[in-house]
Amino acid sequence: MSQDYPNFNLRKRGFKSTCTSHFGNLIHQSRKHEFGGARVKAEIAVIGGSGVYAIDLLKDARTTVMDTPYGKSPAIAVGELAGRQVAFLPRHGKGHTVPPHLVNYRANLWALKELGVERVLATTASGSLNPMMRPGQLALLHQFVDLTKRRPMTFYEGGEGGVVHIDVTNPYCPEVRNVLIQTAKKLRLKLHPKATYACSEGPRFETAAEIKAIRRLGCDLVGMTNVPECVLARELEICYSAVAIVTNFAAGITKKKLTHVEVMELMAANIERVKKLMFTAIPLIPRKRSCSCGEALEGAVVKV
Ligand SMILES: [Zn+2]
Repeated sequence: MSQDYPNFNLRKRGFKSTCTSHFGNLIHQSRKHEFGGARVKAEIAVIGGSGVYAIDLLKDARTTVMDTPYGKSPAIAVGELAGRQVAFLPRHGKGHTVPPHLVNYRANLWALKELGVERVLATTASGSLNPMMRPGQLALLHQFVDLTKRRPMTFYEGGEGGVVHIDVTNPYCPEVRNVLIQTAKKLRLKLHPKATYACSEGPRFETAAEIKAIRRLGCDLVGMTNVPECVLARELEICYSAVAIVTNFAAGITKKKLTHVEVMELMAANIERVKKLMFTAIPLIPRKRSCSCGEALEGAVVKV
């Protein structure tokens, strides 16, 4: 495929695209670019959501800001953990300064690809629609339903950049999911192994009627950030997994008024467990991938 469609082989050539936005020139500059050329290297990344801002477990951590065709990344910490090079990217910027609908998901994922990252473990604060998934518990995302409205969803904007229809039948990497499940067992941490996540646009919380509808769609959790993050990772052939921290019952499930303060309090109380899960799991992730995430673009590119 790479011979027929060299511009689409992200692993070797970097992403080539044109689009009508003011990013067009920047994207043009990246055409001859090869991913993984950054001086700082990482193979695994943690994307920290609400309440997960710092990494204190990385040895010799240094911070880097990456230039991408979509703008600058947030400051990414890169350091060593049990012999693995690990990057930490705060999704909402330092101190939660970017709301979910304005997170520059493309810049974030591009920056990680540039660092050489092949696996992403993300955290996501979520409301629960499932009485079995209670505030304070952890759940591993298994499927998503996308209810977002206005976010750039793809690196492929047509024209020279081409069109890609990526397969997301199983959007989360089975190999990394399995490592997280086994790690939770070892740590005796309660982790719901299969949660279906609805991604709402935000930044407002949902109405009671919306939650009723989302529940009927078969979702367990609702949050504001996992799409398009998960999809963009797949387009870059990066393995992606996400651990949800249940912060509250969603609108109408609880009679209480929903507040971000409540979310942050719950996060603060559970942050150490999430960190422990992630950082115990990281050294257990096999160095060589045996999943198919690394070949996600094969057969996905529209031929012209
Ligand atoms: Zn994978």
